[in-house]
Amino acid sequence: KAKKDGKNTYKLSSDDEDLSSYKKYALDRDMRKAISNEEFELHFQPQVETGNGSLCGAEALIRWNHKEWGLVSPGEFIPMAEENHMINGITDWVIEKVCQLLKEWKEKGLPIIPIAINVPPIRFMKKGLFQHVKTQLENYGIDPFYLEFEITEDTLLNIESSVYSTIQSLKDLGIRIAVDDFGTGYASLASIRKFKPNKIKIDKIFIDNINNEDKVDNGIICATLNLAKSLEMNVVAEGVEEFEQLKFLKKNDCDVIQGYLFSKPVKKEMFEHIMKAGYLSPQVS
Ligand code: C2E
Ligand code: MG
Ligand code: MG
Ligand code: MG
Repeated sequence: KAKKDGKNTYKLSSDDEDLSSYKKYALDRDMRKAISNEEFELHFQPQVETGNGSLCGAEALIRWNHKEWGLVSPGEFIPMAEENHMINGITDWVIEKVCQLLKEWKEKGLPIIPIAINVPPIRFMKKGLFQHVKTQLENYGIDPFYLEFEITEDTLLNIESSVYSTIQSLKDLGIRIAVDDFGTGYASLASIRKFKPNKIKIDKIFIDNINNEDKVDNGIICATLNLAKSLEMNVVAEGVEEFEQLKFLKKNDCDVIQGYLFSKPVKKEMFEHIMKAGYLSPQVS
């Protein structure tokens, strides 16, 4: 596409560039209406016990069903939502939606399991998180046991003491706290020391390297597993795609697996089938 520049001449710019900057513009513009237009949806990625594949949890992962762009992945719009501050409303929507679905599943007689929600640092800095959570749990009649909040290490790096007290109140209420993307942030050990989480999620970047027999990354995985065991925390390995990785994690006593090897994130209806079945087998390709 030819673009006019200031001097009345034309220069070429790639279609891709135009498309992506237009897309960014459009997403930023349309985000404000996305909640009221009911354009967000949640997919669920199962978490299974390493030993027997039995379903023990799931992570709620947001997608945006945009009228022009189709299903937009969170990697594309969550960073934008953090900049334009829509993330707070989006997070509160996810919390309510999960409570609503848990109620629906309970009423359908499905054996419900804890659902993990990603709560970004910026939401902890704004008031009202604890009250919102408490209200939703009460409105939908959900036991706090069924909610798990995934926070990143940078949440715990934040020096505002209100962040700690909010996390503590959530823990006291009975909501479990998991540290997401463990090992990739700046506060791995400090975060555990200052605030003992219930669970840590080993990031995919470490899992990816298992097959390469990378001494450093495999060492980090084993050290994390030992640390978790001695502090009585649960561990989830994220991004497990291959059988070899599963074998390594099983051998080293990792409790729980989340990854494409067992299941990609799936739509609600598919997730209901998985809940009913209660277990998954590794998809050996
Ligand atoms: P995350 O919280 O670390 O979520 C895990 C991501 O890894 C998900 O991507 C999941 O689909 C992907 N994944 C899991 N197993 C595998 C695997 O075996 N192979 C590969 N290649 N990928 C795997 P997704 O759904 O695109 O989400 C990306 C990130 O977007 C999430 O990373 C999270 O940081 C953010 N996100 C997703 N949903 C929400 C949300 O509701 N709220 C907020 N604040 N952030 C969200
Ligand atoms: Mg997560
Ligand atoms: Mg993660
Ligand atoms: Mg991640």
